Amino acid sequence: MARIDNISKTFDPNEAEPRLYKGWMDRGYFKPSDEEGKKPFSIVMPPPNITGQLHMGHALDNTLQDILTRYKRMKGFSTLWLPGTDHASIATEAKIVEAMRKEGIYKDDIGREKFLERAWAWKEQYGGRIVEQLKKMGSSCDWSRERFTMDEGCSEAVKEVFVKYYNQGLIYRGERIINWCPHCLTSISNAEVEYEDQAGHFWHLRYPLEDGTGYVELATTRPETLLGDTAVAVNPKDDRYKDMVGKMLILPLVGRRIPVIADDYVDIEFGTGVVKITPAHDPNDFEVGLRHNLEVINVLTEDAKITEDYPKYAGMDRYEARKHIVEDLEEGGYLIKVEDYNHNVGTCYRCGTTIEPRVSLQWFVKMEELAKPAIEAVKDGRTRFVPERFDKNYFNWMNDIRDWCISRQLWWGHRIPAFYCDDCGEIVVTKEDTAVCPKCGKPMRQDPDTLDTWFSSALWPFSTMGWPEKTEDLKKFYPTDTLVTGYDIITFWVSRMMVAGMAHMDEVPFHDILIHGLVRDEQGRKMSKSLGNGIDPLEIISKYGADSLRFALVTGNAPGNDQRFIPGKVEMGRNFSNKIWNAMRFVIMNMEDDIDLSKADPSRYTIEDKWILTNLHNLVVEATNNIDNYDFGVALAKIVDFIWENFCDWYIEISKSRLFDKECETRTEALYLLNYVLGTAVKLLHPFMPFMTEEVYQNLVLTDKDDSIMISDWPDADSIPSFPAEAQMMTTLIGAIRSIRNVRTEMNVPPSHKAHIIVVSQSEDIRKMFTDGKAFLERLASVSSLETTTDKSGIPATAVAAIFDGGEVYIPLEELIDIGKELERLAAEKDRLAGEIKRGEGKLSNQQFVNNAPEKVVNAEREKLAKYKEMFNGVEERIRVLSDNR
Ligand SMILES: [Zn+2]
Ligand SMILES: [Zn+2]
Repeated sequence: MARIDNISKTFDPNEAEPRLYKGWMDRGYFKPSDEEGKKPFSIVMPPPNITGQLHMGHALDNTLQDILTRYKRMKGFSTLWLPGTDHASIATEAKIVEAMRKEGIYKDDIGREKFLERAWAWKEQYGGRIVEQLKKMGSSCDWSRERFTMDEGCSEAVKEVFVKYYNQGLIYRGERIINWCPHCLTSISNAEVEYEDQAGHFWHLRYPLEDGTGYVELATTRPETLLGDTAVAVNPKDDRYKDMVGKMLILPLVGRRIPVIADDYVDIEFGTGVVKITPAHDPNDFEVGLRHNLEVINVLTEDAKITEDYPKYAGMDRYEARKHIVEDLEEGGYLIKVEDYNHNVGTCYRCGTTIEPRVSLQWFVKMEELAKPAIEAVKDGRTRFVPERFDKNYFNWMNDIRDWCISRQLWWGHRIPAFYCDDCGEIVVTKEDTAVCPKCGKPMRQDPDTLDTWFSSALWPFSTMGWPEKTEDLKKFYPTDTLVTGYDIITFWVSRMMVAGMAHMDEVPFHDILIHGLVRDEQGRKMSKSLGNGIDPLEIISKYGADSLRFALVTGNAPGNDQRFIPGKVEMGRNFSNKIWNAMRFVIMNMEDDIDLSKADPSRYTIEDKWILTNLHNLVVEATNNIDNYDFGVALAKIVDFIWENFCDWYIEISKSRLFDKECETRTEALYLLNYVLGTAVKLLHPFMPFMTEEVYQNLVLTDKDDSIMISDWPDADSIPSFPAEAQMMTTLIGAIRSIRNVRTEMNVPPSHKAHIIVVSQSEDIRKMFTDGKAFLERLASVSSLETTTDKSGIPATAVAAIFDGGEVYIPLEELIDIGKELERLAAEKDRLAGEIKRGEGKLSNQQFVNNAPEKVVNAEREKLAKYKEMFNGVEERIRVLSDNR
């Protein structure tokens, strides 16, 4: 049986991809090599949420990580790509609450323990979905090291950090105004608030002075919070209100006495220069309240309804209450006017509900001191952003960092390791569960809240490697080399990992942060459920294979930039894959079983061999450079160009005469190079399209071959000879062939029609090259014979010129076409067109037709006539030119 009989006609990704992936897994290729002397390279995977389903963002993020991982592995590093998933407290809890609601069950009915049982069962059932989907992408992570933010080790790390920070005074519990989501019923961090521009109003109100001497005028966007006002403030430098400060006002509708205070926070220029102060419902007012020792009066319940303290409005939702309060203000003569006003409103990133600032007792991390070493590390380049411009996002956030509210009123997550004695007020913060008060011996209860999800993901680069134990993995793989992530979570996650890395490892968590953009739809819109424009990567994989999806995602990718997902690129990927498959089959089809490629002799390399080797050499240098600089899109484009054009369109075509001639002296060299060049090129392509390249590699006959392409060595440019002078010659020749082909296409000359050419060049080398390269020209440019000259004067003026780099090729017109026959054909065409014109003119001069036929029909007739006239003129012109040249 011939070699080719073992190779399928086409590459079927649906069959090959799962089989190859399993083979790689079974042979342990995804694990880092423990061979001595290999340098480590490590990436930790941004853990996808267990609630997640693979979307285009994940697909891009993981493709980029896999490219790096496979590249470094081939480059000889001991490579670790550490995968895992995130428990995603708020998202997961919301899913479970939702599922329970459908059964008519509520959290409080079943209690914490039963709820958590459900949550873990949910995680068991669905948490692995995203992992299986990542495997379909070809991700070469070490699954034996897979972690989960709530597994035992990561939970241990969380407790360790909490207790450590607490003992250092960096974690505290305090009454603060926090962002509260009245829908999710939990606090959310500043980073989780999304701001949107909303149309609203300014209600101008008057608050009367207690002494009856007048009133102050102020404006508010939230009149319902008036119920909680405990002061009115002006700027101390504002002369208008100098005499007012210290006086008392009577709060409309409520009747409470409140003071006029002076505080720098008030902007003199804005509105009337007077603002109402509601410490319980506005973060700035809360600060003002602290400075002036104002009472904090909470007027809203957890779900943003008016409290029982205001019977008239009690139980009303905040917006409903607003309506009633405005009505009552108007009735009482307190409302001056209402203005339209657009303002920035904070909303919950999960559910979109407008955030309600709320005062409550929460746990906080003091960030200012912790941030300093993390800021330094980026400043001095120990960690760098790629592209660099994203360090601005980082510095802006870090330089203005607020204390981080880390407690969440949720059950699914890391429970806060703080224990309270209700009897004597003792608080114990410890890693061990504490049931008995060490002070008074009474029972203690654990804080019911859990930690912000990002508290555990901030530790991800080292908790996953076994911290707080001092493990071998930490020693070998920390700090990691590259973090690959989107720009949208620089503040949420990247900055907090930097802080945690510096605080607990005294070392940055990663050296490079490769930032990628969003994957948008073809029209540049964000992919979203509401627009229904999302493209499911799994659907693409089942239709075209993971290789084609990866090809589409990397084509045109540049660090930091958003990109459009153009479905046509997926097809390009599949076509490219087929092109390579067919090239491989062509090469193997020409291999006799007994051929010995080791007999290939470099001293017998022809000019085209030297040309393809030189191009391969340059490609290895450039693609390696591009990948090192994270310019994956550029590297892929160069590899595609090389394989498609240089190798398939030219080298294979040129080699055919040597392959088909069994007596050809350099046939072995041609076959050797066809295998070797394609084998080297698919190695370069492997990180981008891992599956098809493996299969092609396995089928090629290579003198130096590993068990798998993924553990083969990355091509070394130094071992690929380069012949710049010969390569330049060949490039010139190819340029000339292209020009000749273009001329022939323009003139519609069939390939079977061979033509004589005259090459004009001042360079003796080029003239000699054409004489030597006659065989190529005959086959690739349909040349019958050629002459070379330095002198243009003998060339007929009607010859058609094809320009190339270094000279011109002339083809006499009669070489391309038979002028006599062409004139005959044109004369017949001219007659036909004249007939059509006559018919059209006749029709359009018929008034009955013009008046009665539908306008559309008449217009169509007019257009047809115009077109025939234009064609007629073109034919006449051509006849004139050809007759002149006879
Ligand atoms: Zn919410
Ligand atoms: Zn006690």
